Amino acid sequence: MAVSGDARHAVAIIGGATAGAEVAGSLARRGVETVVFEQNDRPYGKIEDGLPRWHVELRKKEYRLIDQKLSLPGVHFVPRTKIGRDIPFEELVKGWGFTGVILAVGAWRDRPLAVPGVDAYVGRGLVYQNPFIYWFNHSVEKGYDGPVFEILDDAIVVGGGLASIDVVKALQIETTRQALAARGIEEEVLTLEVEGIPDVLAKHGLAWEALGLQGCTLYYRRREEDMPLVEAPPGADAARLAKVAQGRRKILEKAMRKYLFKVCAQLAPKDVVVEGNRLVGLVFQRTRIQDGKIVEVPGETVEARGSMVVSSIGSVPEPLGSIPMKGELYCFTDWKLGRFENYEHVFSAGNVVTGKGNIVASRKHGAVIAAHVIERFLGLDSAGHAGEEAMAAPAREAARETAEVIAREITGRPPLPAATLSSIRERVRRRQNEIGYGDDYNAWIKQVTPPDMV
Ligand SMILES: Cc1cc2nc3c(=O)[nH]c(=O)nc-3n(C[C@H](O)[C@H](O)[C@H](O)COP(=O)(O)OP(=O)(O)OC[C@H]3O[C@@H](n4cnc5c(N)ncnc54)[C@H](O)[C@@H]3O)c2cc1C
Repeated sequence: MAVSGDARHAVAIIGGATAGAEVAGSLARRGVETVVFEQNDRPYGKIEDGLPRWHVELRKKEYRLIDQKLSLPGVHFVPRTKIGRDIPFEELVKGWGFTGVILAVGAWRDRPLAVPGVDAYVGRGLVYQNPFIYWFNHSVEKGYDGPVFEILDDAIVVGGGLASIDVVKALQIETTRQALAARGIEEEVLTLEVEGIPDVLAKHGLAWEALGLQGCTLYYRRREEDMPLVEAPPGADAARLAKVAQGRRKILEKAMRKYLFKVCAQLAPKDVVVEGNRLVGLVFQRTRIQDGKIVEVPGETVEARGSMVVSSIGSVPEPLGSIPMKGELYCFTDWKLGRFENYEHVFSAGNVVTGKGNIVASRKHGAVIAAHVIERFLGLDSAGHAGEEAMAAPAREAARETAEVIAREITGRPPLPAATLSSIRERVRRRQNEIGYGDDYNAWIKQVTPPDMV
């Protein structure tokens, strides 16, 4: 374990992905020793498990950036260690003696679909986005032994944001790939994503109708032009807002043309449609938008049936120890540094603070991403995905900004007694031994990366 001889502070970072690595890098540059606890074998978080696997270059680039920071001297990586399960949160925060603890745990819990009784059908017609995309990304690995999902034609997707477009794309691409395979035509997911379904079919002299597929339908509770595919800058005037609305429509229409899914707007999920013990659809309440708010249109409901329902309505942080929560979100007293009452030396960075769970905070943190970058991200630009890396940059920059302030706070505190530092190092070494982690970050990553991982 590379330790910094003159370190005076040690900081625990929970979560080793974009935000955690960024904070570790900033602290390491200032001579602060960090211990990065990561629940998984690999530290790539949403980049590996949340972005569909066709973002090949973006993933590689982000992996490299994370690797660079987690292999710096003075950064101790502790994989396969979930705080709250393998080490109690309170013990880490109060018992280990760290100068500070940073939560960089992201947002991994699907926001529950607000339909009474619907969660009883998880696995029986209802699927949530996070496990679905995890499976989509990893199921192609020979050694994959996690939950398995069947991709069915004619699915209902509840959503409206960028992530839900990724979900409909995954469904459309995979059902098309399967329909082609049934005709003896092999096409790769990546080819269908890059070239689009109509162009790939045309190469084989086929039309969409000939496949006999219904395609999936995206249900959104607001208007199409409200879809948060492009963000409006803070304080935008009416002309700018109209332009944003036009940009959103353009992106949606392009996506529908390229991946052939349908959209039903101004419908909010309200009730289940059940046959036997399976969810076979949802009843939607028609809505209208009044002064930016969703208003139900009384008496107007629509029953929609489909092969499965995929809920893609956002992710929120998982509860952690006794961290105070307000509803689904952490109850921060300071949103900028992600601080809490009664935890004077705990801070937070990354999606756990800025995630879509809190759009206001996200905007406060973030640069607005240009529409052409979003088009590249969604595979709608003739340049393909080139340049989509800019999507991940604001999150990284926000984490770095937070890290710099935290670093100033930490380095201004009284130095840790030498005995506390060596006790922390000893505990870290013990845990690393328990999980079979040697002294070498890069060797570990090599060891735990499946050979067929995409
Ligand atoms: C298309 C796209 C859209 C995006 N949209 C947004 C957006 O709207 N808002 C925004 O802020 N960012 C957004 N981002 C940024 C993106 O989410 C970040 O780049 C980044 O992936 C989030 O990093 P993170 O480290 O905060 O969280 P994650 O990538 O989720 O990493 C959290 C890590 O913590 C680990 N972990 C969780 N719990 C524990 C535990 N108890 N113990 C140990 N380890 C744990 C996880 O395994 C994971 O590795 C977007 C990125 C892309 C590419």
